[in-house]
Amino acid sequence: RNSCVSDSSDSVISSGSDSEGQVYKVVLLGEHGVGKTSLARIFAGVEDANDNEETGNTYDRTLEVDDEETSILLYDIWEQDNSQWLKDQCMRMGDAYIIVYSVTDKSSFEKASELRIQLRRARQAENIPIILVGNKSDLVRSREVSVDEGSACAVVFDCKFIETSASLHHNVRDLFEGIVRQIRLRKDSKEE
Ligand code: GDP
Repeated sequence: RNSCVSDSSDSVISSGSDSEGQVYKVVLLGEHGVGKTSLARIFAGVEDANDNEETGNTYDRTLEVDDEETSILLYDIWEQDNSQWLKDQCMRMGDAYIIVYSVTDKSSFEKASELRIQLRRARQAENIPIILVGNKSDLVRSREVSVDEGSACAVVFDCKFIETSASLHHNVRDLFEGIVRQIRLRKDSKEE
């Protein structure tokens, strides 16, 4: 329920590139501490015991989803510095966006809406794939944003929605498969 993806689960992550050699840029947005770096490191397969919270990385992976390979460059650079230049750059460069909030932090949820509005302003005519992500779904007792609020927000903002737990690796693969499927859908509709 409220997931952005279908139920196929046999995806394999490998290295290599798209048959067309195209690499899609996916940008992580969201307030500090919501779990962007944790999600990015799971995507990249580099998260490990040493909990080094360095940010400002770009991760390159090829995902096989529905028997087709797609190469993704994932940018975790939103908080790299505080320059407006970087923020503008982030808003302009993505082929797709993952907007993350923490279900334990209402203000990060409000920030996610703001980011969605900024993105719409920056890329007016474009129909860019966006997934709204409510992370930290494992923290049941400190939850401040319900699943229904999250999915209602996604409906208003015309984007997909998923709740994840980076800590439990719950729905993280579904999130990245979802973004690949969204990218393909938009690409196919552009070509027709
Ligand atoms: P960023 O600032 O958005 O990149 O957030 P980080 O990935 O650095 O995460 C901030 C903190 O939240 C870290 O201490 C993470 O271990 C923790 N965290 C991230 N995702 C989750 C999650 O799904 N559940 C829980 N319980 N903690 C998480």
